[in-house]
Amino acid sequence: MSVPLYNHARLYARRKPEIDAAIARVIASGRLDWGDEVPNFEAEFAAWNGATFAVAVHSGTAALKVAMLALGVAAGDEVITVANTDIASSSAIHFTGASPVWVDIEPLTRTMDIDALAAAITPRTAAIMPVDLFGHPANMPAIAALAAKHGIPVVEDACLALGATVGGRKIGTFATVTCFSFAPSKHLGSFGSGGAALTEDADLAERMRKISAYGQERARHYAMHGAKGTGGLHHETYGLNERLDEIQAAILRARLPDLTAMLAERRTQAATYLSGLAGLPIELPQTVPGYEHAWRNFVIELDARDRLASRLGGAGIATSLSYAPPMHLQPVFAPMGFGEGALPVTERSCSRLLGIPIGPQLTSEQIAEVIGAVRTSLN
Ligand SMILES: *Cc1c(COP(=O)(O)O)cnc(C)c1O
Repeated sequence: MSVPLYNHARLYARRKPEIDAAIARVIASGRLDWGDEVPNFEAEFAAWNGATFAVAVHSGTAALKVAMLALGVAAGDEVITVANTDIASSSAIHFTGASPVWVDIEPLTRTMDIDALAAAITPRTAAIMPVDLFGHPANMPAIAALAAKHGIPVVEDACLALGATVGGRKIGTFATVTCFSFAPSKHLGSFGSGGAALTEDADLAERMRKISAYGQERARHYAMHGAKGTGGLHHETYGLNERLDEIQAAILRARLPDLTAMLAERRTQAATYLSGLAGLPIELPQTVPGYEHAWRNFVIELDARDRLASRLGGAGIATSLSYAPPMHLQPVFAPMGFGEGALPVTERSCSRLLGIPIGPQLTSEQIAEVIGAVRTSLN
């Protein structure tokens, strides 16, 4: 039995009639953009997360970038983030003109270290971007409190943590803006690309909406397309084309009612891994009490990582090196001058981590197969 990381066809099968109907509905309507699917999805997605406003955009990267642009982050600014994440976090900062400033992580959660954050704040700090790595939220209450003290906005990269909770409350309202990805392999996958930004701030939501849509009010676009309202072109700000497609919004709406069940499957699989892999010479992922993990990734750590990866590969089991090496050691960021040894906890984690398959695309037999293969490989 082989165990892949992803299986989009199996996920499609969970909701095939609903997804097929959603796609057909959009195509038949003839409204491939500026239709009702995007605003309806925004309302439904905000409600699912317990947030007030959602702005749907073209990707998780776009959500991060648009959020920072709407907050006024620009050339000369610094944005404090972590290096053990998808490159999108740091490149979104780069494309605002600001510079990423990477700080080290707490070993247990592998998320932003609050003391390192406090030490890195300068007069140039324009935003703080914690990452909820692998689905474990960063220490959002402490980060939000520190940021508020300094009057700095927080843009939370929650692309791996949809549905995670802190103190029983879903993430999405702890930061100034909380960003999600609907890449096909994330918790709620589109059939292409998608993302969203949540906020409680109506003005900020409107700015993000404009910046992601050519700098124009959405209502005026509807008017242009003869659907609602009045008015012509009216560009109030510089804008990008980072909108979510109507078809993707319709697909996401068809999948959203299954999200809670898909998350529950991830949590069951994680519990199975935690008991099935207990007692082995590996470090298992931990969860801070009061936090609920979203388990986008199940990532173990061990010194002999490469040997285990190759043995599992030989047994037909896919593994992942997300995210290694860390960003400050990637060639593209070499000019930043961080270098090896700059972030010791991050570097240690990245050199030892190994992701094993998890998610509703897998059967319980496949999870059992992975447990057996890990146990055998470590003997
Ligand atoms: C997936 C991901 C992103 C980027 O999302 P895209 O939709 O691929 O642009 C950003 N940050 C993290 C942590 C991610 O996992």
